[in-house]
Amino acid sequence: MPAKVIVRDLSKRYGGVEAVRGVSFAIEAGEIFGLLGPNGAGKTTTLECLVGLREADAGELEVCGLDARKQPGEVKQRIGVALQSTALPDKITPREALKLFGAFYRKRAEPAALLARFALTEKADARFDTLSGGQRQRLALALAFVNQPELVLLDEPTTGLDPAARRELHAEILQMKRDGHTVLLTTHYLDEAEQLCDRIAIIDRGRVIATGAPRELIAQSSGSQSVTLVTKPGIGGAAVAGLPGASDVRSEGGAVKFRTARPTETLAALAALLAAQRVELVELQVKKASLEEVFVGLTKSEAAGGKS
Ligand code: ATP
Repeated sequence: MPAKVIVRDLSKRYGGVEAVRGVSFAIEAGEIFGLLGPNGAGKTTTLECLVGLREADAGELEVCGLDARKQPGEVKQRIGVALQSTALPDKITPREALKLFGAFYRKRAEPAALLARFALTEKADARFDTLSGGQRQRLALALAFVNQPELVLLDEPTTGLDPAARRELHAEILQMKRDGHTVLLTTHYLDEAEQLCDRIAIIDRGRVIATGAPRELIAQSSGSQSVTLVTKPGIGGAAVAGLPGASDVRSEGGAVKFRTARPTETLAALAALLAAQRVELVELQVKKASLEEVFVGLTKSEAAGGKS
């Protein structure tokens, strides 16, 4: 199946700010693809160029097989978009908004079906200004579905929601995939990306610095195991720092925490050290790095490299 989205060398500047500098990625049909990156990285700008809300300065944008720079109107018929905040008139009701938005499209879904799907039936005739944040987000998603889109683009869909509402939205996003939609989302929540996304691109200062499945990125990252150690008596951080492969050693609340890229070697040396010093092992935890650690490591090393 051809890719649903192809972005090649996208660039966009606002006056003196180079917001996006040669971003490229492709999204296969049926995937949930995440764009991650720190504040100001260029995620929203990339998404807005894709949906025709901003004009790209350079690059190629292909959406649902169409040239998005040349045929933005046709692209809009095929995609659904939920931006960070949905501004609607105070007095409009969800039912009215769905009817109104649906009128712009050739292909449209029934408002009643969308209200039911996004758990808004009870609020169908309530004014927009009386909806809670979570209900507004669900309405934004319902509006993104009025034209039965092939591709759904969600800009930070769960920002500001309580944990239960976030979980509900996660379930909705996974349902979109099961129903055959392709999903592009931006998020600041690394756990969210790890749970939902088949693949992600990490953007930092207008460039893509890593692309792949969350699990692949975690596996590729160096120093990927994190170790927590508690002994009796406590063993000093300096002794741990001397173990082969150990790095980033710190003491936290009676435990020594560190990272290692060579866990087998590090732990064998640790066991020998504890036995030689007759120190009792109370707790030992070895965990793979989370996507969050990978992300922080990658964006930190970009900043240190000072690439421009
Ligand atoms: P966040 O996670 O904070 O939403 P983002 O990754 O979505 O950030 P963008 O909103 O795309 O980032 O912004 C990228 C850069 O472009 C930032 O430096 C931002 O200040 C700048 N920028 C965005 N919109 C405009 C605008 N309308 N005019 C001028 N500069 C802008």
